[in-house]
Amino acid sequence: MAQRLPAVDAVTIGVGLTGSLAAFEMVQSGQKVVGLERGAPRDTVPDFQSPAIHDELRFSIRKAMMQDNVKVAVTFRNNFNETALPIRRWASFLPGQGLGGSFVHWNGQSFRAQVADFVLRSHVIQRYGQKFLDACGPELTIQDWGVTYDELEPYYDRFEYLCGVSGKAGNIKGQIQAGGNPFEAPRSREYPNPPLKETYFGAIFRKGAESLGYHPYPQPSSNLSRPYTNPLGIKLEQCVFCGFCERYACEHYAKASPQTIILPVLVKNPNYELRTSCEVLRINLDSTGKKATGVTYVDGAGREFEQPAEIVFITAFPLNNVRTLLLSGIGKPYDPRSGEGVVGRNYSYQTTGGPTVFMDESININPFMSSGAPGTMIDDFSGDNFDHSNMNPPFIGGQYVGSIMTGGRPIEFHPTPPGTPPWGLEWKRAVARHYNHAILIQQHGTSMSSRLNYLDLDPTYKDAWGQPLLRMTFDFPENDIRMSQYIADKVVEIGRAMGGKIVVRGGTKRPYTTTVYQSTHNCGGAVMGDDPKTSAVNRYMQCWDVPNVFSLGGSSFPQNITYNYTITIGALTYWALDAIKNKYLKSPGPLVQA
Ligand SMILES: Cc1cc2nc3c(=O)[nH]c(=O)nc-3n(C[C@H](O)[C@H](O)[C@H](O)COP(=O)(O)OP(=O)(O)OC[C@H]3O[C@@H](n4cnc5c(N)ncnc54)[C@H](O)[C@@H]3O)c2cc1C
Ligand code: SF4
Repeated sequence: MAQRLPAVDAVTIGVGLTGSLAAFEMVQSGQKVVGLERGAPRDTVPDFQSPAIHDELRFSIRKAMMQDNVKVAVTFRNNFNETALPIRRWASFLPGQGLGGSFVHWNGQSFRAQVADFVLRSHVIQRYGQKFLDACGPELTIQDWGVTYDELEPYYDRFEYLCGVSGKAGNIKGQIQAGGNPFEAPRSREYPNPPLKETYFGAIFRKGAESLGYHPYPQPSSNLSRPYTNPLGIKLEQCVFCGFCERYACEHYAKASPQTIILPVLVKNPNYELRTSCEVLRINLDSTGKKATGVTYVDGAGREFEQPAEIVFITAFPLNNVRTLLLSGIGKPYDPRSGEGVVGRNYSYQTTGGPTVFMDESININPFMSSGAPGTMIDDFSGDNFDHSNMNPPFIGGQYVGSIMTGGRPIEFHPTPPGTPPWGLEWKRAVARHYNHAILIQQHGTSMSSRLNYLDLDPTYKDAWGQPLLRMTFDFPENDIRMSQYIADKVVEIGRAMGGKIVVRGGTKRPYTTTVYQSTHNCGGAVMGDDPKTSAVNRYMQCWDVPNVFSLGGSSFPQNITYNYTITIGALTYWALDAIKNKYLKSPGPLVQA
């Protein structure tokens, strides 16, 4: 029998990026908030200090910071005729666990989305016509978001200044800026910090890309280029290119994370209470099923509690957001056969992969000296920046391309050319020959939603508490393969222009596999929109069916954008919280009428 606790104004399920941002905004408005985080408490000192934090076996290979999939895994299959099996070793994506969530071990690659991304369906039909869209794949279920770039711009700006993003603006209020990305959406002002210093591999990429007429720019990064005090008065330091960023926490206070940009102020606020090692099992509803009364959770000692709250924020990472809605019976689950239902609908992912460029031995890359977001990039093939009308076979979407090497760590990084044996003396010789003379190029881009890809509850497998696991049914739509393969040809040309002796072609392939790392930008499943028939949440990420529940994060993306999505998640969270503070708290109820 759960012990009932005193009621609070709001509770967050998870204390990662969205959980700490939402709680901060609420406590500023005088609301009492409890943050429930299933992982352990942790901070830069003592938990993230070297040498222990540079343990590649522990963090990169054994995934010490990731969701405990002995207790709670995700099951997977490529299509609904298959039987899904649990993913017992994370590889393709790496959801985090512990105070700060995945936003602790992220890279810091800090992009905004583009104007057209938010109105994708309307944009594609307007520019290319419905017939063209149908030819890209009748199974595609892309849609508009219900919010526009212009509405989000002030919130992008606010979040970038909170993180201290280092970059060079390419477009300020419509004026193209030298040195930045000429394709970027208009921003109201410069980044808070200048870009990171360009790496040697970045400079080689720049030269190659420029020689072909493309437009290189420095990747915006939340690995900071200089000491910075954010608007909350928290001090961050300069990145030292330690080479242990992606999958690791930062020991230097140089990467934006909840611990470095928000928690030091939040946890001191008397309106906030943080409870770690507390796993939420479900959201409780009243007898009408239209109002949440709070959550039920289990603490580290296995005791069950009921935490009553006026507002519930689901801030548990996209996959867990969708699972929480399904376990709680909020919103109609999606059925791929009828196309009806919204929770689990439009799960999408990210297209990644790119060539390895093997250089002459005189070119010393020193890949071990790098940050999590050190790239030099081009956006010439991102989103709809190039004309798709004559593409044969037709496709929509695009990818950014860039040289982004995030550390030549000894276990994970040993590029060898095709034909090299996978072990033995010849392999060792090839690793020794190429380790310091190979450049990785990233293709990273859109993934369109499809009626065939979705999330639901697994009928067989359960977690440690006896609750069904989340089941993922996913394969890349043919559209995404066409897009990625088209760009792969262009990237091989760049690799050659860089002086590559051997250029190994990249690009996304089918079937999608969960055994190789691709991206932790899982998105959709509780998508936002204007129509409750095709979206689980409205434009403020408020559940249509239970208006005092807000599902915040990448689960609300109707399809994935070209870019790493976290800066957009931050902007959307600020946008929703503004509406909650200024409208919902004054008059609780739906912020948008269905
Ligand atoms: C290796 C890696 C690299 C990345 N690099 C980039 C990048 O360069 N750029 C970029 O834009 N994005 C990047 N990301 C993505 C970024 O980390 C996420 O977008 C961001 O952290 C999402 O915020 P969130 O609040 O949704 O989830 P999180 O920050 O993961 O927080 C969710 C929290 O909820 C907790 N939780 C889950 N379920 C429960 C429950 N039932 N009860 C209680 N607590 C629960 C989890 O333990 C976790 O702490 C990367 C991610 C990874 C893993
Ligand atoms: S690369 Fe820079 S930001 Fe990343 S962990 Fe190292 S010092 Fe921190």
